[in-house]
Amino acid sequence: MEKNITLETLAIDGGDRTVQTHFPWPIYDETDVQAVADVVRSGRWGNPDCGDLVETFEQEFAAYCGTKYAVSCVNGSVSLRLALMACGVRPGDEVIVPPYTFIATASTVLEVNCVPVFVDIDPDTYNLDPKAVEAAITERTKVIIPVHFAGLACDMDAIMDIARRHKLRVIEDAAHAHGAEYKGRKLGSIGDVGSFSFQSSKNLTSGEGGMVVTNDENLYRTMASLRNVGRMEGHQWYDHFNPGCNYRITQMQAVLLSRQLNRLDDQTVIRNENGLYLNKLLSNIDGILPLTRSPEATRHCYHLYIFSYDSSAFGGLPRQEFVARLAAEGVPCSTGYPHPLYKQPLFQNKNFMCYAIPESVDYAAVNCPVAERACRDEAVWIFQHAMLGSREDMQSFAEAIRKIQRVVTQA
Ligand SMILES: *Cc1c(COP(=O)(O)O)cnc(C)c1O
Repeated sequence: MEKNITLETLAIDGGDRTVQTHFPWPIYDETDVQAVADVVRSGRWGNPDCGDLVETFEQEFAAYCGTKYAVSCVNGSVSLRLALMACGVRPGDEVIVPPYTFIATASTVLEVNCVPVFVDIDPDTYNLDPKAVEAAITERTKVIIPVHFAGLACDMDAIMDIARRHKLRVIEDAAHAHGAEYKGRKLGSIGDVGSFSFQSSKNLTSGEGGMVVTNDENLYRTMASLRNVGRMEGHQWYDHFNPGCNYRITQMQAVLLSRQLNRLDDQTVIRNENGLYLNKLLSNIDGILPLTRSPEATRHCYHLYIFSYDSSAFGGLPRQEFVARLAAEGVPCSTGYPHPLYKQPLFQNKNFMCYAIPESVDYAAVNCPVAERACRDEAVWIFQHAMLGSREDMQSFAEAIRKIQRVVTQA
């Protein structure tokens, strides 16, 4: 049998990979190993009264974000929960969230007996559309949770203005946004509370972990108490004032985070510059449209580099198959979320257990067309560790896409 000889063969069909670089994550060296080993040998692993490394990291992170206070906790879901509780939400209150985000942004709203209200994203940024936010406000709305998706700043001036006029709290979900900026201010420092995750995929990580930052002393005191089993400063160990839980992190996590924080700025600068460069390279490829960066997004940290894919420029190749080919060429990538959050069985089946969601709430009736399109056939994500590569790596990402386009359109 004679094989159809083409000029090039995709890696998925046994050809050479376009991208040869391996992109490691997490990044650490022997001094990090030593620092954690030192904590282990010290025997001072956690509470009570050996939490000085945790406090040190909290102060470092608050200073980095430009906020007065920071409270660490076990993950970036609990941090949202602490923020919601501290904001004083009551059962049945409405919280505005985007549908294109990780489940925790909405499921933590259920955990505090409140109603997630899904508001569609902007097609150019995949962030909450402020006009849609304002249109969704009712007399029961208490909080807006803008997610700085992928590390790209939301339109915070518009969101803060809406919040002020309607007397709402703003919790920034900055789980993707360590070190990213809006008009030169760190994301997470603009709303009432900023919430971060240190889970292993995130741009700053200790495997698991989370943090809330704030400038509001009352919110700070409440979140610190909730994190520490409802204890309050100046009282006895077995005095409990608030309905909190033990959400504390260990000294081993804290020392690792302190050391990783020293790398964060350099890494963010690299991702930011690579993102700008990749925008230029990919804008020239038919059918590939990078998301838009407004001038106010002064620093993007590219937890994800996202572009939208138009199969018609790729001979009708479905996005799933395009991404399989791109991954085989050596670009760490994915199609992202398969559905907007309201389509998850949790919401469709209203499997809310004892939570105070009114009967009238029906997630089967929710439709956010932009999020639907992003999930169904548009979005392609390149992961943050690949954005730490060189300029040549960015060129090879673009070349991998061009190669796929050539092969599938000549067939
Ligand atoms: C990762 C993530 C969270 C939750 O963080 P965990 O530490 O995994 O609990 C919350 N929101 C967004 C947008 C995330 O990506």
